[in-house]
Amino acid sequence: MIKRLGSATLLALSLASCASTHEEESDVTHYRVFVADHKASQVVAFDLHNTDKRWEFDTAGQAKLYSVSNDSVVVAVQSFSDQVNFISSGISLEDHGEHSDIKIEAPQALRNTLKGPSPFHLLEHSGKVSINFDEGGYASIIDGDALANGQLKHFKIEQNIAHHGVVVPLGDQWLTSVASKAKQAEHTSAKRVGVQLIDATSQPIGELQACTDLHGEGFSGNYLAIGCKEGVLTVKHGRQGAEYMMLPYPASFPKGEMVGHFLGSKTIQVFLGSYGKKGLVVIDPVDEPHMQLIKLPFRRVDFIFDKLHPIHGYVLTEDGKLSLVNVLNANIEKSIQVTEPYSLDGHWNDPRPRLAIAGDEILVTDPNQGVIHRIKAETLTKGESIDVGGQPYNITVVGGSGMRH
Ligand code: ZN
Ligand code: ZN
Repeated sequence: MIKRLGSATLLALSLASCASTHEEESDVTHYRVFVADHKASQVVAFDLHNTDKRWEFDTAGQAKLYSVSNDSVVVAVQSFSDQVNFISSGISLEDHGEHSDIKIEAPQALRNTLKGPSPFHLLEHSGKVSINFDEGGYASIIDGDALANGQLKHFKIEQNIAHHGVVVPLGDQWLTSVASKAKQAEHTSAKRVGVQLIDATSQPIGELQACTDLHGEGFSGNYLAIGCKEGVLTVKHGRQGAEYMMLPYPASFPKGEMVGHFLGSKTIQVFLGSYGKKGLVVIDPVDEPHMQLIKLPFRRVDFIFDKLHPIHGYVLTEDGKLSLVNVLNANIEKSIQVTEPYSLDGHWNDPRPRLAIAGDEILVTDPNQGVIHRIKAETLTKGESIDVGGQPYNITVVGGSGMRH
C-alpha cells in the first residue's frame, strides 16, 4: 500500500516537473532540413517552421546527404574529396510502441570523419550503414546504434577489385558487387558483372550471380532489388540464405535501357526505379506484373517516394515540372511547374534540383535561384520558397511527429 502511494506520488511529481520545463507539451511535429551547396564545401541546416535560424557545417567538398539511424544522423558523402562527415541531426525519435517520443536539440558535427578513396553509394540496412569506397576496393560498415550516440564504429569489407559498387548486410553475411579483373581502358572503372555472398572476412561463400553492369540497389519489405542489364535482380534473405530471382524487363519496355537507381518503400513492398533517361518503373518483387513503366514526357532529374502516402511518388523532369505518380497503376496524376527548365545535357553533376519530403510537403532545391521551393504534396500547390543563397543542391530531411511528456 505504501509502495503504491509512493509510485503514484513519484509519477505526479515527474509529470509536474515535465510540465514546468516544457512550455508546449505533448504532440510535436518537427522537420529539420539539411542542404549541401553545389560549389561551396558546406552543409546548411534549418528547421522548417523557423527557416531563419541556420546552422552551418564545413565539409571538404561537395556532399551528397543521407539521413540514417532513424534520422538521428545526417551523413555527408564527399565523393570528390575522399571524405565522409557525420552530423548529429539533433532530432531523435524514440519508439514507445503506440507513439514515439521526440527530442529536439541543436545539430552538431561529429568530430570523427571517414577518409578513403571515392566514397559513393550509401545503403542502410538492419542497423548498419554501408559506404562503398570505389577506388579503395572496399566498403566501410558503420554501426548505426553507435552512430546515433555520436560514436563512429566501423570496419571494412573487402571487394574483389576496386569498382563503383556496393556491399550490403544480409543476415550474418554480406552481399558484395563483383567486377571483372579484365584490363579496362584508362579512366574507366572495372566492369561490374554480378553479386556474391561473402563472410565477414571477405571470403566468398556463394556462387557469383550474374548482374551485368550492376547499378542501383534498394531494400523494401523482405527484398533487396538490384539493377542489371538483364533485368532486376531481387534477393530475399530466406531460410536457405540468399534467394535470387532475376525479373527480366518486359518485352514492351524500350530496349537497351536498364534500371539504374532504386528507391524502396518502407511502408509497402514496392520499389520505384529509374528506367533509361525518360522512364520510371514500379517494381513489385512478388506479384505480377513485376514491372510497370511510367513514360515521362521529358528526361528525369530526380524522384522520391511519399512517406505519408506510400502509393505516391514524385518526379521532377528537366522541363522544371514536378509530377505526382501513382505506384499502384503507374499513372501520372498531376503536374506543376516548379522551376525553370534544367537541361540534362551537359555534365551529370551540373547543378540541378533535388527533391526531399518533409511530412506533407515536397522540398525542391533550385540551385540557379538559390532557393528551396515548398510544395504541398496533397494538392501539388506551391507555397513559399526558402532563400538559402549559393547553389542549394543535395538535400535531406529529418524529423517527424512525436510526444514530449
Ligand atoms: Zn512516450
Ligand atoms: Zn552510382
